[in-house]
Amino acid sequence: MSERPRLTVLSGPSGVGKSTVVAHMRKEHPEVWLSVSATTRKPRPGEQHGVHYFFVTDEEMDKLIANGELLEWAEFAGNRYGTPRAAVLERLENGEPVLLEIDLQGARQVRESMSDAQLVFLAPPSWEELVRRLTGRGTEPPEVIERRLAAARTELAAEPEFHTTLVNTSVEDVARELLALMDVV
Ligand code: ADP
Ligand code: 5GP
Repeated sequence: MSERPRLTVLSGPSGVGKSTVVAHMRKEHPEVWLSVSATTRKPRPGEQHGVHYFFVTDEEMDKLIANGELLEWAEFAGNRYGTPRAAVLERLENGEPVLLEIDLQGARQVRESMSDAQLVFLAPPSWEELVRRLTGRGTEPPEVIERRLAAARTELAAEPEFHTTLVNTSVEDVARELLALMDVV
């Protein structure tokens, strides 16, 4: 166990399985605190305000940014996403392990502002499998999938910027590896 839990950032292309891995991990280890982001994206079926995201209007997002309330934020595939700063800092001060599930642009901002953050990249077993997962999830229309796949090419190329890469072949294995990296087990 390290002395002070670090902030861990999990990034990787849309559809690689970040949410699935994190949900699996938190089922067994609810003490791992996952930051709830603000987003201007509309909720998918089953997504709840305050649980999966804080769903905000463009005007509300403008205010969060202008007031400096976000630790980082980025525009991704046509919507804005950001991490509320206060909740993250509070958890870290309490010594709780903190996880952010954010995109590449956000990971880069955190790397600059929180120098001891640990950056973890979740990679797909192959490009074909990534396309299969993103398409198979069935939550986005074809033009949005295209935008997300274009972003995925950039994200995959940035893998060397991260401290660690985990390949999401098995959700159970990756969840276990992530917990170990976070010093939770
Ligand atoms: P992300 O949060 O990275 O956008 P999701 O967690 O929504 O991705 O996963 C995208 C799709 O891939 C979902 O349908 C999910 O069930 C599936 N999936 C996730 N991990 C795996 C895995 N290891 N093997 C097969 N399918 C997976
Ligand atoms: P989705 O719309 O699929 O939930 O998320 C799209 C992308 O936005 C994913 O790569 C996800 O990790 C990222 N994301 C979610 N929340 C944040 C955030 O607060 N900041 C940043 N920079 N990216 C985020």
